[in-house]
Amino acid sequence: MFKLIRKVVVYFDPLLENESLNLKKEFEAWDKHARTIQIRILSLLTGLLYIAASYIERDILSSDTLSFATSLHLYFLPPLLFFISAMTFFRTLYTPMILILAISPVLANIGNLYLTELLRSSPIYLSELYSTEVYLIVIWIFAISGLRFSYAIISASICFILTLGYQFYSLMPKEIFYLHQLWMFSAFSFGVMTALILEKNNKRIFLDARKLEQLATVDKLSGLYNRMKIETYCDMEIDRAERYNEIFSMILIDIDYFKEINDAHGHNIGDRVISNISKVLQSSIRCVDYVGRWGGEEFLILLPKTTAQQAFQIAEKIRITIMEEDFSPAQNITISAGITEYIQGDTTEKIIQRADDELYKAKESGRNQIQIYEAPSFF
Ligand code: GH3
Ligand code: MG
Ligand code: MG
Repeated sequence: MFKLIRKVVVYFDPLLENESLNLKKEFEAWDKHARTIQIRILSLLTGLLYIAASYIERDILSSDTLSFATSLHLYFLPPLLFFISAMTFFRTLYTPMILILAISPVLANIGNLYLTELLRSSPIYLSELYSTEVYLIVIWIFAISGLRFSYAIISASICFILTLGYQFYSLMPKEIFYLHQLWMFSAFSFGVMTALILEKNNKRIFLDARKLEQLATVDKLSGLYNRMKIETYCDMEIDRAERYNEIFSMILIDIDYFKEINDAHGHNIGDRVISNISKVLQSSIRCVDYVGRWGGEEFLILLPKTTAQQAFQIAEKIRITIMEEDFSPAQNITISAGITEYIQGDTTEKIIQRADDELYKAKESGRNQIQIYEAPSFF
């Protein structure tokens, strides 16, 4: 029984499949963007529809009710909806915008109930004219408004309770009251289902997009960025360095005599060494740095706002950690590395070539060591 409940809950909230704490936050940020655009367009459209409704009302209502209907449907709701639409352009106004968005259907509902009351003594078709709009309002809240489920359910419940309260108060014939309640209940449940399914689908799309991105950018064996992604980051760092006159450094690392490890212990153990070294690299850098698998047993680290000398300290720490780490059955694992700093006018190709030349020198000088590029002196 518990398993079944969990299955249903996970079906409607696929984010629960994953235990990651950040996932919910990541989804909310992703979702916020899509919702903002939806709110912008649909608030605008709803405002225009109210203006159209107000125009039609002029031929239906008598002057005593028309003035209130016009105030509500022309002078109050459309400007409020256009205001919400305009607020979506300002990121800092997101929370107040959502609050106004959640309150606006409640205000529309109160207005319509008041109109219903004004029309109580009119012929039946007129007095029922506005009570039916509440069904539309409930569906609008859940499926159209762009409100998240938690806000939508509060907003729609208030509308539901207010309408129910009014219908009690107005002492309408029982049969009509029951029919209204059935419709109200149907609108509410259709709305809830639509909102749940929409939110579930959004979460699925988010998870799939995230997975695809991960497959396209992360190397499976090492869990580090793949060559394409680290190259993109290198391009970005060059752009940043050029624009803001900043520096960054690069460390290119290669495992020494790796072929011998494979030959002595087999490919699987070789893979395990690559994976364990990747973990050492990952834990040795700051969260603003990037590390990727450049080739078979080669790794590339980018260190923003870091000089070559500072990069050397980090690389030394990595070299010593790896030298002292137990990778058994593989023994005496060491690395060599080449370091260079960004030089004005660099391209990704040029800077990597410089780091690679230094790496070559480190290999030539006996391995298990680090070489730093030094710009040729003109004096
Ligand atoms: P050195 O760099 O010190 O000059 O010697 P090396 O033996 O490490 O150099 P080389 O570049 O010739 O050999 C790299 C080896 O890495 C060759 C290849 O079989 C192995 N290799 C590349 N990718 C993988 C991988 O994903 N898994 C395993 N197990 N081995 C790999
Ligand atoms: Mg090697
Ligand atoms: Mg190599």
